[in-house]
Amino acid sequence: MSAREAEKIIVTQKYFFKKLAVDFDRTLFSTAEEFPNVGKPKLIHRIVAAYVRRKSEQGWVIILNTMREKGKGLEKAIEACEKWNIPIDYYNENPQADIDHWGDSRKIGATRSIDDTQVGLIGWLLRTFG
Ligand SMILES: [Mg+2]
Repeated sequence: MSAREAEKIIVTQKYFFKKLAVDFDRTLFSTAEEFPNVGKPKLIHRIVAAYVRRKSEQGWVIILNTMREKGKGLEKAIEACEKWNIPIDYYNENPQADIDHWGDSRKIGATRSIDDTQVGLIGWLLRTFG
């Protein structure tokens, strides 16, 4: 193996790990009438949670990508994810390796994302049954 190939592996392993960005409201949980309370998860939300758990088990980094901020509902979201055993590695932030490589972007970088606002089948299912 050349030094260049070795360097590529080191760099790749450092920042090209797979990441799943997942929204909170209407994606992992229904939204309660009184924000920031969290509603009970419906079947479609439980399916998303199962997908998140599976990806976590496969070694993916899970990032909760939500409008909720500290003091504005994020604590309730963290509590709900813990209660329902939904593994979250980062809350509204990119992993340090990504920040080092790409800069401290406000956009959450991910290999895949799940959000009820998405175009396509998953978004439609979440909007219809969530
Ligand atoms: Mg949402």
